[in-house]
Amino acid sequence: MNFRQYAGIEFESAARMRAVQDELLRRHVVYAARRSPYYRAWFANSGLRPEQVGLDDLSALPLTGKAELAEHNRDLQAVPERKVVDVVFSSGTSGVPTRVVYSERDLRRLAYNEHQSFAAAGVGADDQVLLTCTMDRCFVAGLAYFLGIRSLGAAAIRNGHGTLAGHGEIVGRLAPEVVVGVPSFLVKLGLYLRAQAKGRGGRLARALICIGEPVRDRRLQALPVAERLVELWGAAIHSTYASTEIVTTFCECTQGCGGHLHPELAVVEVVDRAGRPLAAGEVGEVVVTPLGVEAMPLLRFRTGDLSFLIDEPCGCGRNSVRLGPILGRCNQMLKINGTTLYPQAIARALDAVPGVVDHYIVVRSREALSDRATVHVAVEDAACDAAMIEEQLQARLRVKPDVVLETPEEVRERVFCREYRKPMRFFDLREKS
Ligand SMILES: [Zn+2]
Repeated sequence: MNFRQYAGIEFESAARMRAVQDELLRRHVVYAARRSPYYRAWFANSGLRPEQVGLDDLSALPLTGKAELAEHNRDLQAVPERKVVDVVFSSGTSGVPTRVVYSERDLRRLAYNEHQSFAAAGVGADDQVLLTCTMDRCFVAGLAYFLGIRSLGAAAIRNGHGTLAGHGEIVGRLAPEVVVGVPSFLVKLGLYLRAQAKGRGGRLARALICIGEPVRDRRLQALPVAERLVELWGAAIHSTYASTEIVTTFCECTQGCGGHLHPELAVVEVVDRAGRPLAAGEVGEVVVTPLGVEAMPLLRFRTGDLSFLIDEPCGCGRNSVRLGPILGRCNQMLKINGTTLYPQAIARALDAVPGVVDHYIVVRSREALSDRATVHVAVEDAACDAAMIEEQLQARLRVKPDVVLETPEEVRERVFCREYRKPMRFFDLREKS
């Protein structure tokens, strides 16, 4: 399928987008039911005919999660091995990475998707884009950005997981207009660049594409990390969301108010715990049916991420629904003395405490259905003690996790433990029942 024929559909009416999406969903469901042994078996057992499933019937289909992807990995593959051109791994539920495969057409689809995303964020053919995320180690994100930048005709600077000095030299020499990276890392890089420039002001880049961590809250207001980025870089901030399994990304446009969905590339639902779709504005799990995927087509994939949909007009002129910031992970919900919260909320509250430089959270089970969270914090300011941080957390979160001070080295050692593929700031030691 040539996706480029749908370029610009987000500017058309809701009715037109829905008609196109319904048609593409029907094709996708029929393809999955025919080519994927896993879905073929499901349809055979259900008695439902794949040709009958359109947008209105989506909730009749089963949810597919990371557990099914790990357990039925080969049965979810819809193409012979010779059509596979890229193999990646996504983090699995048991800690063992799960294999995900892409065909040539899937990579072209991804290139189109990232092209649309970058273009909406104002990136053009004249721009140089610095990638501070890895292109290798079986991750797809860096490759996806590269494909999108190439499709757009912009120039990619693939500096990967470099040091601050390495990235600093590149920014100094090449002055890229756009930088892609994890917000907390971009804060460190911004501080480094400001220190190097010895107080000279000016804009360090025009736009930052933020990956992996949220930059806005439930009301789409900038989080402290985003305010810091604007102050350090003088750049516009765009958040982008994706996951390896859904092979689809949603990026904020120049208005910066949630990532635009692409009706021709995915059907996105937000569902409650029972898997029932929720109305726009209600918070639940993000479930994605990526359309037109060839190698591993999925139906209603549970991302495990919590967010909400925004169905309001956008200042950029696109009429597509938007996805709000990721508010947490479904399985990371904490219950402390009757109050429900997510580790991300603790992280955001810590971001607002001056002097705190890094942290990780450990949660254990406690009696009376309560969890016990301990926040291990590194500070750069001696005036910043555990009692003061506990009070600040209580004021913002209405619960009081235990705070333990550690040196920045101790925190870094735990966060960047080699056992994990990504930095880990949340350790769940609760007994699984
Ligand atoms: Zn917009």
